[in-house]
Amino acid sequence: MIAIVNLLYLISVILLILGLRNLSNPSTARKGNLRAASGMVLAIATTLFVPLESGDNNYYWIAMGIIIGSVIGLVVSNRVKMTAMPELVSLFNGLGGACAVTISFIELYGFQEVFGDPSLSQVSYGRHATTQLAMLVGAVAFTGSMIAYGKLAGKIGDWQIPFSTYINIVFLLTLVGLIGYQVLYPDESFTLPLITLGLALFYGFTFVQPIGGADMPVVISLLNAFTGIAAALAGIIYESQMMLIGGILVGSSGTILTILMCEAMNRSLFNVIIGGFGGESGGGKDRGEQVVQEANATDVAIMMRYAQNVMVVPGYGMAVAQAQKTCKELDDVLHKYNVNVKYAIHPVAGRMPGHMNVLLAEADVPYPKLFDLDDANRVMDESDVTLVVGANDVVNPAALDDPSSPIYGMPILEILKSKNVIVMKRSMNPGYAGIQNPLFFHEKTKMLFGDARSSIENLISEVRTLG
Ligand code: NDP
Repeated sequence: MIAIVNLLYLISVILLILGLRNLSNPSTARKGNLRAASGMVLAIATTLFVPLESGDNNYYWIAMGIIIGSVIGLVVSNRVKMTAMPELVSLFNGLGGACAVTISFIELYGFQEVFGDPSLSQVSYGRHATTQLAMLVGAVAFTGSMIAYGKLAGKIGDWQIPFSTYINIVFLLTLVGLIGYQVLYPDESFTLPLITLGLALFYGFTFVQPIGGADMPVVISLLNAFTGIAAALAGIIYESQMMLIGGILVGSSGTILTILMCEAMNRSLFNVIIGGFGGESGGGKDRGEQVVQEANATDVAIMMRYAQNVMVVPGYGMAVAQAQKTCKELDDVLHKYNVNVKYAIHPVAGRMPGHMNVLLAEADVPYPKLFDLDDANRVMDESDVTLVVGANDVVNPAALDDPSSPIYGMPILEILKSKNVIVMKRSMNPGYAGIQNPLFFHEKTKMLFGDARSSIENLISEVRTLG
């Protein structure tokens, strides 16, 4: 029986790893998701058949949990808008942290009940220490994710906690000290574990609250890594290799993603955590009174109709306007006039990694038309018209030439290399980093104000009338 269970777990782990591998490319991502999901289903089903030492079975409770959880999951994921996906990920992640806290709490309770029993071995005390650690990491992931959700949903503002860096260091050291003390001097009292749990939950709040709203996707990825670590620790507690490997996979992929996102913004993780990036406008050169050149749909349609190469730069505004299918329609119309359309994708365009790739894939834009940052910048000078569809921070030239700008040093799509730039947005409001964009005032740039989808629909009909 145990051999069969282990074999099934091994198959589940292989499916998870293959799924992750497939997720690294848009063309195989759907398959990857299915593989990983089937690995997870197999792991859960296998776990249900593992005989419990106590002989009790809780199938009724487990079935209730699975049914309630699946119904909520199905309804929520069907209703969620693409733009609110990072919020959903944050909520799910918080629930993962809450699971780790619940498991650890029950285990700690069990340990305190049998404390002092001469049959307890060193291993039991080691398990006790691991449980405390899982509770700490899970609690930080839980409250941290809830704050991140609140910030992304606009329910919690970017208000600062005075001396937050020092407060956080004190919290962390206190928590490590508390856990160390309980490991070295365990006793049957339940007071210290309760204090540790309370402090850890509060630390999750003081850790995330001072971080700027624009950095929430990075924080979510980091907290996701924390939840993975908590799950891996739970795997050690229950001696479950499946849980251990699954936790390690989540922990390591969350860490890799966090590093990649920081690299794409040319910022260190430390800078993200203490940087307060996002929120209010600030930084950058004072550009005085400057005027923008406004274009209308007819002008832009003429430019595009007679261009050889057009580069589309999608950003968060494309997701808000749900303009991806209209973009593809414009691409198809221009194709009839032998205009070559490409798409330049910045790694942090939108609000989550791969956001633009997902939207454009949904609109059936062929993958070879999508150019990543470096490749797009390499061919940018061939573009006759670059159409910015609701992107802002990822095309802000202040990142290249204004050392006083908060985003100075972040790699951007260098669209000023192209011959003409058209920016589609609804107003002169800044992007998520809250800073003004000198691109809008550049002599090569013309602004096409309005909702991106309506603007593109107008362009399509204008191009068609040109024949
Ligand atoms: P931005 O948030 O910088 O800008 C979005 C623009 O879209 C705004 O200028 C807004 O202007 C415009 N917009 C909004 N709605 C519409 C609409 N309906 N029609 C037309 N325009 C619209 O987006 P970017 O994609 O350029 O940059 C992403 C930001 O998120 C960066 O700061 C990045 O660092 C941050 N970030 C992203 C992560 C990721 O993984 N993707 C991770 C971490 C951070 P207006 O309101 O005037 O219309």
